[in-house]
Parts: sequence; structure tokens; C-alpha cells
Amino acid sequence: MDMADIQVIKQHLIDPEICIRCNTCEATCPVNAITHDSHNYVVDPQKCNLCMDCISPCPTGSIDNWRMVPRVRAYTVEEQFGWDVLPDELSSEQLAGGLGQAPEVTAARSDGEVIAVAEAVIAEVQPFNSTQFGATQPPWSAAHCYTNLYGPKSQRKSIRATVTGNVRVTEVGREYDTHHIVLDFGAMPFPVLEGQSIGIVPPGVDSQGRPHHARQYSIASPRNGERPGYNNLSLTVKRVLEDYQGNPVRGVASNYLCDLQVGDTVEVIGPFGASFLMPNHPRSNIVMICTGTGSAPMRAMTEWRRRLRKSGKFDDGKLMLFFGARTPQELPYFGPLQSLPRDFIDINLAFSRVPGEPRRYVQDMMRERVADLAPLLADPDTYIYVCGLKAMEEGVVLALRDVAEQSGIAWEPLAAALKEQGRLHLETY
Ligand SMILES: Cc1cc2nc3c(=O)[nH]c(=O)nc-3n(C[C@H](O)[C@H](O)[C@H](O)COP(=O)(O)OP(=O)(O)OC[C@H]3O[C@@H](n4cnc5c(N)ncnc54)[C@H](O)[C@@H]3O)c2cc1C
Ligand code: SF4
Ligand code: SF4
Repeated sequence: MDMADIQVIKQHLIDPEICIRCNTCEATCPVNAITHDSHNYVVDPQKCNLCMDCISPCPTGSIDNWRMVPRVRAYTVEEQFGWDVLPDELSSEQLAGGLGQAPEVTAARSDGEVIAVAEAVIAEVQPFNSTQFGATQPPWSAAHCYTNLYGPKSQRKSIRATVTGNVRVTEVGREYDTHHIVLDFGAMPFPVLEGQSIGIVPPGVDSQGRPHHARQYSIASPRNGERPGYNNLSLTVKRVLEDYQGNPVRGVASNYLCDLQVGDTVEVIGPFGASFLMPNHPRSNIVMICTGTGSAPMRAMTEWRRRLRKSGKFDDGKLMLFFGARTPQELPYFGPLQSLPRDFIDINLAFSRVPGEPRRYVQDMMRERVADLAPLLADPDTYIYVCGLKAMEEGVVLALRDVAEQSGIAWEPLAAALKEQGRLHLETY
């Protein structure tokens, strides 16, 4: 028997019982080792190089699970998709007895040390992997945030919030439907910051009879409430009526939320997220790049700055927004956005499906605005936030690279600084 066959390794696994399917780990993993189906998030043992980047961003700790297994019997992605609970640890007899029975599997670690891996896998990874550029640290001047006050990691498993508002923020009468939903926590503590998200637990069970898992939604209001001084927050929820392939579906949580009436109560967990937070120091610039409901955290940050400015407490630092949608009618908050003063925020809208007009995406607008974006990129007080559909992420990071290089700014050191200093945040789903 080959030495590699008798090696026992510690395999990286995700606990399906407490994972809230928030996608943070998948968005963080620099080698795309994490994937999901409609049931579970899983780690591909053939790709994971044990870099540990995913461990601290996970809001529930479900990512931090390890099992000793014979290397040749590492759990495959297909096996993990079928799990409702993590498998028990193997006994030493099972470890010994299992050797040599299963197909060859490569990655995992032994005693903290990488033993199989991944140079080949890393070399295979797509030529431009945008995920690797995202920061996992907040800006140095971010306010302290609370996470996991309610949920699987907490003593309090959830909290009930009351719906105090539910209005449509895209044009009525079209197939797309996005709602601005206000949730009030009454006298219960639920402190949040702009850029954080919450989990909504839809009532009922899925097709297998299991309780629905929570879905995550970005908070769209500032830290002092949707209405200043109130213990409430808002969400921007798009009703999912077709899947990513365009097939008709009825998304469980998004339809539940969009149909809520004022006075209804919802089960909430969270807050989640400790890095996609805004800077608070004077002269800090914020560049926001979003599509669709990715506008939620941008609305929260913009509104917080607007409130500070109005009260005379913050009078410096630029705001630049790149916001993409298929049409103006589909763009959430299109009306209110137009009324923000131009000396407060530099707004760039990109529409990709306006009849008779060329398709324009946020990355096109970024390239067009190179003369104004480049000085911001060069400024160490600039913080960049990207939120929206997964498909936008690569194009946006490539556009940042192009803007930098066209302006004589070397991309590699800039990208390293943006990541290390918590200045480029990617949240796509
Ligand atoms: C960090 C984070 C923040 C998020 N913030 C927001 C937010 O602010 N607003 C918001 O509306 N959503 C947000 N989402 C997405 C949200 O969590 C849900 O995934 C989404 O609402 C669909 O849930 P569902 O229960 O309605 O659909 P499901 O019942 O879970 O899915 C139904 C089908 O639709 C597909 N599907 C899932 N999501 C989408 C989508 N967005 N577009 C097209 N097809 C989809 C699924 O693959 C599945 O086939 C966020 C996700 C993450 C990870
Ligand atoms: S440890 Fe690193 S490579 Fe493995 S899943 Fe986590 S982020 Fe990806
Ligand atoms: S809860 Fe943790 S393991 Fe589950 S999807 Fe989110 S980051 Fe990944």
C-alpha cells in the first residue's frame, strides 16, 4: 500500500444543522472550494488548500468543523450534499479498517499541516479570480458591531420582529417586484450597523418536511433606525419568481417577506457580518458599486452619511455610487436617489435593457469615469463596496484593475493594500 493511502487526514466540513446558507464562505474562498446546492453548503476536499480564510467570516461557526478520515475516504461533495447532520468521528478501528476502500481524494490536512493539496488545483483556477481580492477585515475606523445575538450560536435562538411597513420600491405593474420592508424590534436589543445583514426564518417546512433554513437580507437602514431614534430597520427584498436559469419558481423567503402585512411578526436571527462595514473617520471616501438589491447596504451607508451631514457632524469625504439595473423602472429607490444633492453623492446609473439604447453595465460606467475614480483609488482613505448579483463581481474587480492601470497605479500592490486594510469589500449572492 502506498504511504499516501494510509494517511489519516483532518477533513474540512460544514455543519448542515447550524449553517444559515448565507454564502459568506463561498464568497470568501479564494480557490472556489466551497459550493452549494438547494440543501447544503459543502467543501470540496479536492480544492480546499486549508488557507483558513473562510473561518472567521462565517457568522455561525458552522464552517469550523473537522473530521479525521483516511485520506482515501475523504467525504465527497456529493456525500456532503445529502447530509442533514455531520457524521460522527470515526473510531480508530474504523479509521484503520477504512483504509484503501474508496476512490482517491486529495486535499485535507493532518495536525494543522497541509498535506495534500493544491498547487495543481490553484494553477487550474480561473485566470482572474475576483474573490481573492475581497477584504475580510473591516475599515480601521468602523464602529464596533454585534453579531450572532440571536441564532444557532446564541442562547436566544431567534427574535420576533413586527412589520411596520411594506412598500414596493420598483414600478408597480411590471414582472419585477422589490419591496422596502420595515421591521421593529420593540424593546428587544437588536443593534446593527450599515453593511450588516439579518436572517429571516420563513415559517413552515421544505419539501423534505424540514423547517425552512434562514435566508439572509442586507440591512438597508442606518444604525439609528429606519426612522431615526427607533428600534427598527429596513430590508430591500426582491421577489424571486424565477431561478438563475430563468425557470419559474416561487422563492420561499422573498415571497413570504414581500407578502407580509403591517402588524405581522417574523422570526429573525443575526445580526451577521463583521467586515462589510463603513469607515467613520473624516475625509474617508466611499465608492459603492451595486446592482438590484445590492443597493440595500449602499442605501444604509448613504443615509447615515446624509444624517451626519445634516446634523453638521460630517462634512468631508466623497461618496461615489455606480448602480446597475436592467431599466430605470427596475431600479429600487430610483425616485429618492434622484433627489440627493449632487455635491453630496456622485451618482452613476447603468441600464442594460433600455429599448433603443446600448447595454451599459456598472463596469462600463466605472471605465467612463476613470478620471474621477482613479484619484479615489489612489487615496488610502477610500473604501470600496461591491454588492449584488454574483455575476457582476468579476467584471467590477477587472474594471477597478483597468482604472488603476490606465492611471499609472500598479494593481498588485494596490489590490494587496485594499484587501489588507479592509478597503475592498465584495458581497455578491
Ligand atoms: C449576504 C447576503 C445578502 C443578501 N441580501 C439580500 C437583499 O438585501 N435582498 C434580497 O432580495 N436578497 C438578498 N439576498 C438573497 C436572499 O438571501 C435569498 O437568497 C433570496 O431572497 C432568495 O430566497 P428565496 O427563499 O426567495 O428563494 P429560494 O426558495 O431559496 O430559491 C428558489 C430558487 O430561486 C433561486 N434563487 C435564489 N435567489 C435568487 C435570486 N436572488 N435571483 C434569482 N434566483 C434566485 C434559487 O437557486 C432556487 O432555485 C442576500 C443573500 C446573501 C447571501
Ligand atoms: S480553508 Fe481556504 S481553501 Fe478551504 S474552504 Fe476555506 S477558504 Fe476555501
Ligand atoms: S453559515 Fe458559515 S458555513 Fe454556512 S454558508 Fe454562511 S459562512 Fe458558509
